[in-house]
Amino acid sequence: AKEGGRSRFDFYTEDLTHSARHRVETERRLRDALAEGQLVAHYQPQVEIATGRVIGVEALVRWRDPEHGLIPPGEFIPLAEETGLIGALGEWVLHEACRQGVLWMEIGIAPLVVAVNLSGYQLRQGDIVESVARVLRQTGFPAERLELELTESALMEREGDTAGVLDRLRAHGIRMAVDDFGTGYSSFAYLRRFRLDVLKIDKRFIDEIDQQQDARTIVDAIIAMGHALGLQVLAEGVETQSQLDILRDQGCDLFQGYLKSRPLDADAVTALLRNDAG
Ligand code: C2E
Ligand code: CA
Ligand code: CA
Ligand code: CA
Repeated sequence: AKEGGRSRFDFYTEDLTHSARHRVETERRLRDALAEGQLVAHYQPQVEIATGRVIGVEALVRWRDPEHGLIPPGEFIPLAEETGLIGALGEWVLHEACRQGVLWMEIGIAPLVVAVNLSGYQLRQGDIVESVARVLRQTGFPAERLELELTESALMEREGDTAGVLDRLRAHGIRMAVDDFGTGYSSFAYLRRFRLDVLKIDKRFIDEIDQQQDARTIVDAIIAMGHALGLQVLAEGVETQSQLDILRDQGCDLFQGYLKSRPLDADAVTALLRNDAG
């Protein structure tokens, strides 16, 4: 028994050492990746359900690692948030998306909206409003076409301060969306405290709307509440026509999902926008 305990303990410490080393190593590689231009923005279309038109795109970051290929954000965004690297990374994505947005405007196929994810960490940085305004100035992208997505949990972290920051961003003309709605402490009442434009229903509810009556009921309620608050409602992660049919019946305004397109690199999404424009 003693030996067994001992070896488990050794295994445990070894594992911890390994993961700590792995984290430090990953952080260093991510910092280099940012400096060396290894990050890329992909874009996923947002579609107006009533017309089928692409009215926006969401920027989603990827890490193009020379050794490991394209690494999805789920594998480095959490670490970037823990280490604070998300500040510089987030500003890079914002700048890149706005720069691309200007290119689309110049060739006359601009989506109305370019949406960019903002992490809670960025929101708590004192200078977020100035840094967004600076990127808009530098790139010449119009504030009215920029939408910032904040998760429900990031919004709730410091409710009082957050409302003030959102007001200042909106005073610039920037649109605001609540992301992953339904996954946090969804008190419907708090939504009124924030001035928002779009409510994005989390994929987990959409996954089940064509299978489960309760998921359908919840989505129905979220759409009604969003509309009552004057928000546009977007369904995330729509993969099938039957999900879309239900959402259309329910009066949902917009959707994103593989049914229309996966996130694509800038060239591929440009081709899609061209095609869409006819
Ligand atoms: P999110 O903001 O909720 O983005 C939606 C995610 O769902 C994306 O994953 C997208 O590729 C995926 N998705 C969209 N439609 C479908 C579908 O029909 N089926 C399935 N299975 N998945 C779908 P992705 O690109 O891996 O991003 C994951 C998360 O990483 C994002 O979730 C967001 O929280 C974070 N993230 C990505 N880019 C950024 C960024 O620039 N800044 C920050 N702070 N977070 C980011
Ligand atoms: Ca998002
Ligand atoms: Ca989401
Ligand atoms: Ca999500």
